[in-house]
Amino acid sequence: MVTTTRGTNGKSPEVMESLNPATGEILGTVPVAGGDDVASAVARAREASRTWGAMSVGDRRDQLVAFRRALAGRAEEMAELIHRENGKPRLDALLEVMSALAHLHHAALRADKVLRPHKVSSGLMANFRSTISYHPFGVIAVIGPWNYPLFTPMGSIAYALAAGNAIVFKPSELTPLVGQLLGEIARASIAIPDVLVVVTGDGRTGAVLARAEVDKIAFTGSTATGKKVMAAAAERLTPVLMELGGKDPLIVAEDADVDKAAEAAVWGAMTNAGQACISVERCYVVEPIYDRFVEKAVGEARQVRWGADDEASIGAITMPRQVDIIREHLEDAVARGAKVLLGGADQIRGNFVPPTVLTGVTPEMRIMKEETFGPILPIAKVASAEQAVEQANATRYGLGSAVFGKARARELADKIRAGMTSINSALAYAGVPALPFGGVGDSGFGRIHGDEGLREFSRVKATTEERFPLPVALLSFKLPRGTYDRIKSTIHQLYGGGMVDKLRDKLPF
Ligand code: NAD
Repeated sequence: MVTTTRGTNGKSPEVMESLNPATGEILGTVPVAGGDDVASAVARAREASRTWGAMSVGDRRDQLVAFRRALAGRAEEMAELIHRENGKPRLDALLEVMSALAHLHHAALRADKVLRPHKVSSGLMANFRSTISYHPFGVIAVIGPWNYPLFTPMGSIAYALAAGNAIVFKPSELTPLVGQLLGEIARASIAIPDVLVVVTGDGRTGAVLARAEVDKIAFTGSTATGKKVMAAAAERLTPVLMELGGKDPLIVAEDADVDKAAEAAVWGAMTNAGQACISVERCYVVEPIYDRFVEKAVGEARQVRWGADDEASIGAITMPRQVDIIREHLEDAVARGAKVLLGGADQIRGNFVPPTVLTGVTPEMRIMKEETFGPILPIAKVASAEQAVEQANATRYGLGSAVFGKARARELADKIRAGMTSINSALAYAGVPALPFGGVGDSGFGRIHGDEGLREFSRVKATTEERFPLPVALLSFKLPRGTYDRIKSTIHQLYGGGMVDKLRDKLPF
């Protein structure tokens, strides 16, 4: 949470306060970086990128191992800050630190293998040796959200660093202290200064960074802001990676383990108080098992303890504005005929929203279309798994998804238009560092995590080198007479007559 104040003499730099969303306590004050601050941060990162990018992958790995160890050494301190600044329970905060460390470890170790230059077939140009190599972009701007203030930006930062880039990171205005602590740990553990520079501020600072002289922008946040960032980046033709919002479906097929599905649906919808881009936001259950599923889900949700105490499983809603959106979605659903089986808008207390289960939901309700970002599980009854897939896909979003079932679970998973699917679990893909993470449609494009994440932060270079000259130099104006007819006959024999099909396994095409 944040309030912004201008220096009293009108000249001193603007600052903002970071507040504990559960208590309103002021946790710290950070500067709101302006144009000059951002330009200076980018210049420092640019300088660092020269040394960092020129290092061997092995040397960079050693530096990232030092960074990982330093972060692990301060895991509890980081988790405590995440807990206080974001509002999530301490255990969830510590799990977030562990997940971030898993990515830092994975990226550092995989970079050598994934980014090593490799040869490819030269096809008809058989006298050439062709190679693909990967190079750092230079400086990556990482603009992050508040819901997983460490894990989410780390998905870009770890992979971009391992690929040889320096970073300018702007954390969310709701969690700037977590960003600052990460920057401090990087400074203390990585030998090259300014490889990870942190600038604090709100949307205005983000907007300046989106126009700055960086080589790529990795943005994580809402779809609406993502569009603004992309428009700003277009001015300099800066490439962008967009990790945006979602409206993730969970489908329960007839042969699913109903108890397991209900438990996972409740956890997937309510973990982090529902404030995950990959939260289960819609649940489609086939008719024969619907009643059993609903009963079980309500029983599970009833046990989810909400509040600020140490026993609570879900804490405060981090962004006060979001509480209004959650309330509006619930009221709209009820006005259109949804039934509240547990929780509901009238039980919201300040920044705390109760675990809520709804049935009788229909596609035109806001709660089934727009990102709610609260601990809400709307359950829809469907006639078949096909209808579930159809409704799951009836959205412009396409981030995560889940399928519960046996015989047709994989087939159904394949049919969901989303970047990721967990079968017989919720959100599990996010815990596998080797799996690429990202969405389609309004959920964005590009991938963090995994090999794709390393390549996302690399400039791809194609090189081909002549090994020996051919008697007929085709790449020349000095072609012998009759070349036209020879090419005509080659086209016919190779591609028309099917020679390439017959020699498919023998020719290097
Ligand atoms: P947000 O879009 O409000 O803000 C994200 C970041 O953008 C913040 O740092 C903010 O200061 C900055 N910003 C705001 N205006 C800007 C502008 N004009 N130019 C540049 N930067 C600007 O999002 P949020 O509320 O912080 O985060 C919640 C959203 O993030 C949800 O929609 C959630 O689904 C999404 N999210 C997506 C992923 C993913 O990986 N796909 C992960 C986490 C969160």
